[in-house]
Amino acid sequence: MPTTPDASVNPRLTATVRAPAARSMARPDVEAEKATTAQQFALGLFVVIPLLAVAAAIPALWGWGLGWHDVIIALVFYWVSGLGITVGFHRYFTHSSFKANRPLRIAMAIAGSLAIEGPVITWVSDHRRHHKYSDKEGDPHSPWRFGPGWQSLAKGLVWAHTGWLFDPNKTSQEKFSPDLLADSSIRKVDGFFGGWVAISLLAPALIGGLWGMSFHAALTAFFWASLVRVALLHHVTWSINSICHVFGNEDFVVRDKSRNVAWLAIASFGESWHNLHHADPTCARHGALRGQLDPSARVIWAFERLGWAWDVRWPDEERLATKRPAGARRVLGSMTKGAMARRATARNAEQPGEKSIKPASQADRQAA
Ligand SMILES: [Zn+2]
Ligand SMILES: [Zn+2]
Repeated sequence: MPTTPDASVNPRLTATVRAPAARSMARPDVEAEKATTAQQFALGLFVVIPLLAVAAAIPALWGWGLGWHDVIIALVFYWVSGLGITVGFHRYFTHSSFKANRPLRIAMAIAGSLAIEGPVITWVSDHRRHHKYSDKEGDPHSPWRFGPGWQSLAKGLVWAHTGWLFDPNKTSQEKFSPDLLADSSIRKVDGFFGGWVAISLLAPALIGGLWGMSFHAALTAFFWASLVRVALLHHVTWSINSICHVFGNEDFVVRDKSRNVAWLAIASFGESWHNLHHADPTCARHGALRGQLDPSARVIWAFERLGWAWDVRWPDEERLATKRPAGARRVLGSMTKGAMARRATARNAEQPGEKSIKPASQADRQAA
């Protein structure tokens, strides 16, 4: 059984960066049981086959095998599974950026599972471990794992993008996700992962086939809305681990190498504002500065307005002010804690009969 946080880490990193807190903890960060070769082979199929599908898809762009039905089904599945990861697995389950009612909680666990990025408890455990050791010994997917030189960094980028998925050391769920293990519904969603994979791949084909009333329509929908959609979403998600820990802007002061990458913002639903995310991990909006698009934050905002989500941790002006580098000029956007509270007060003043968004948070405020 390993006694260090990650027995497989580079000794060069080990020599320079220690993690004393982890060594003193009774529970190891990784499970005693390693992933089997068969599990790694199956994972390899899911990484390689969708990629080959994208390459083979390029000629199809010029006039055959792609229709509006396929585009619409692919976009819907990209949104549902992608937001399941960003709003659900990441901001809600990993970081508790907001509270949600039970149906939304279950729906987010299912939607994220459709992205085929692993079962919810595995995903959350890996990601909590990433934040605990970010770019240091014990981080499951740091691009700086092999050192700072360009050759080491090139190797590190491949590792952070996909290589780490094949690491036989599995993050300890008991250590990192006891809250999720304690929820029997979430454990059921987690245990049914194979079923969600099948649904995610076959539902687009079924919908496409019924919509176009042909086998050909089912096949093209499967190709675009299952294989290509999964491949794109995988690479966008993995880019957050690789690209967003190497390239981009440091708008906020952080202890790691996380950066803000604008060109990935739309495809990643706002997750590429990764520098702010590491500066303030529980913040519900990652694109906190003015002009930084963050579709996931807008979805959380909609859940809050519907009364399905509450206690949302919107960017806190005072807290973030302390994390800005000296001389930073760009101001925060409009979805901050103070601005949201001012708008809610103005709304309630206009409509005195209207109920507050969620009775629980109102009661909390009165109690405070
Ligand atoms: Zn990160
Ligand atoms: Zn995170």
